[in-house]
Amino acid sequence: SHILTVSGLKAAIGDTPILRGIDLVVPPGEIHAVMGPNGSGKSTLSYVLAGRADYEVTGGSATYGEADLLEMEPEARAAAGIFLAFQAPVELPGVNNANFLRTALNAQRRARGQDEIDAVAFLKLAREAGKRLSMPDDMLKRAVNVGFSGGEKKRNEVLQMALLKPSLAILDETDSGLDVDALRIVAEGVRALRAPDFSALVITHHQRLLEILVPDRVHVMSKGRIIRSGDAQLAREIEREGYSALIQEAA
Ligand code: ADP
Ligand code: MG
Ligand code: MG
Repeated sequence: SHILTVSGLKAAIGDTPILRGIDLVVPPGEIHAVMGPNGSGKSTLSYVLAGRADYEVTGGSATYGEADLLEMEPEARAAAGIFLAFQAPVELPGVNNANFLRTALNAQRRARGQDEIDAVAFLKLAREAGKRLSMPDDMLKRAVNVGFSGGEKKRNEVLQMALLKPSLAILDETDSGLDVDALRIVAEGVRALRAPDFSALVITHHQRLLEILVPDRVHVMSKGRIIRSGDAQLAREIEREGYSALIQEAA
């Protein structure tokens, strides 16, 4: 079965409908990109799938494997192997980054009935994973995201993801603040996770990121709906021609 199946999903903030019927299927092992102009509902889709309380689901369904995703508590979603990275990662002053990452990993291991990993073994794991992302060792010693540059925050997210090995990652990429090198490291970091038991929904405006990632499918959102889906070629078409032609065509 599919890892993520979204059918006719509608959601509102207060009285304002934002998602107006989203249909989306992500099979195991596939990376899908979600693109679309500002305000089309991309972040809302990721928040609803994450279970954020301020969004009301007003119709449709979302399943994760066989489970009703919308009925799961946010913590249960994480424990079940869903990883969510938001546009603005939280800063946690006073919380050591290595301890934070180890706590997240151990919560997942406990939920799966596995032994916890000790600080020494964890540091070894984290340093190796960090090296692959060109992260300086001191980022593990610093407070979570405090004073990190945009690129460092994204790298830290990819590090967390590499350690947690989620079944489904939903990444709402920030559209600014990533220089070309940081973008490449993030894209290569996600690409390196490609595996039959890893799926991802990557929300992005960056054609450059998609050139490295090479998504299996690209979905374009406008006004709370997916107006077009295609392969990686669709992202190139958007880069060339913009969204307006697609939106007019769909109307
Ligand atoms: P995107 O990520 O594609 O830029 P969003 O999901 O952030 O789009 O926003 C979709 C629409 O929902 C926009 O019209 C935005 O103004 C509206 N919206 C987002 N958050 C709120 C909120 N807290 N209250 C009211 N409207 C909101
Ligand atoms: Mg936005
Ligand atoms: Mg957004």
